[in-house]
Amino acid sequence: MSSTMRGLAFLGEGRIGLVERGIPTAGPGEAVVRSTASLICTSDVHTVAGVLPVPEGRLLGHESVGVVHEIGDGVTSVQVGDRVAVNAVTPDGTCDYCQRGLSSQCGGPLGGYRFTVQKDGNLAEYFHVNDADYNLAPIPDALADEVAVYACDMLSTPPR
Ligand SMILES: [Zn+2]
Repeated sequence: MSSTMRGLAFLGEGRIGLVERGIPTAGPGEAVVRSTASLICTSDVHTVAGVLPVPEGRLLGHESVGVVHEIGDGVTSVQVGDRVAVNAVTPDGTCDYCQRGLSSQCGGPLGGYRFTVQKDGNLAEYFHVNDADYNLAPIPDALADEVAVYACDMLSTPPR
């Protein structure tokens, strides 16, 4: 099995492209998901326009669903092969902010917003999920991946 994958990367202001990267691995409490459906967000467009500062080469995207590819030690809520949705914001669920219900501010202002901002995003063949038991939601059999993917950000992000 190949140990590399492709993802869509920010390559400098106004530039994107497919890049090759190692498939992520799951440490304790983490998971790796193989993407089956993804959406592009206006935030990705803003990032490419240079409004949200991220390093060149960082993978874009935070709206993907898929199949659990690997789980780390201690993950109990999902098994390899499960279809899962992952929110755009992936808090740890345990810090003071999360415990007060401010999970998008996990650890500090906007700290829960990890994809692309703090680590590679999930417009990629595979992606890493921190705190998997807190951030992976099983997709009901009756829902197609192309339907469930709308729950990642569009349904879960309140209007401004
Ligand atoms: Zn937190």
